[in-house]
Amino acid sequence: MAKSAESKTSKSTPAKSRTTTKKSTANGKIKAKSNAAENLREFLVDGLKDLFWAEKHLSKALVKMEENATSPKLKDAINNHKSETDVQITRLEEVFAILDEKAKAEKCDAMEGLIKEGEGIMEETEAGAVCDAAIIAAAQKVEHYEIASYGTLIAYCQLLQEEDAMKILQQTLDEEKSCDSLLTDLAISEINLEAASEEK
Ligand code: FE
Ligand code: FE
Ligand code: FE
Repeated sequence: MAKSAESKTSKSTPAKSRTTTKKSTANGKIKAKSNAAENLREFLVDGLKDLFWAEKHLSKALVKMEENATSPKLKDAINNHKSETDVQITRLEEVFAILDEKAKAEKCDAMEGLIKEGEGIMEETEAGAVCDAAIIAAAQKVEHYEIASYGTLIAYCQLLQEEDAMKILQQTLDEEKSCDSLLTDLAISEINLEAASEEK
């Protein structure tokens, strides 16, 4: 199941992101594309497009994670964050509107990789506590990526005096952080312990 989902993910995403299409020269220096960002505002918008793609794909990946989890508490946590993620997608649309930019998703190579790794991890662990621990590990890598990304964009908004956009992104950052700490609590208080005591 995870296998077919994996190939579906990789096929449905055309490689058109900035990073994958960059050409490096002989000395390793990367040549900027013709539409490369020239200022922080443009780079901020690029970051929003990247996160827009990331959140949309994550929303689907979280459904698979929930399906493969065993612990009711973990299922609840993932289901709740799936709902939050859907709201986060609409928040990004609001931010695009505030900045007078068209809401557009641009492939996030990192999230594609994190989702793929998460699917791989589910294939490589037996259902139950070990798989649950692995799902938490994969989910936390995702949350950390999001925390870093939103944190950076919030700093740019602050510099560019985009207060309204900043406040909206901050709401999402707070959710990502609390999801991350909830997963830590769940892992430490029970799931990792159960996985550790699993029979060979
Ligand atoms: Fe998110
Ligand atoms: Fe990205
Ligand atoms: Fe998240």
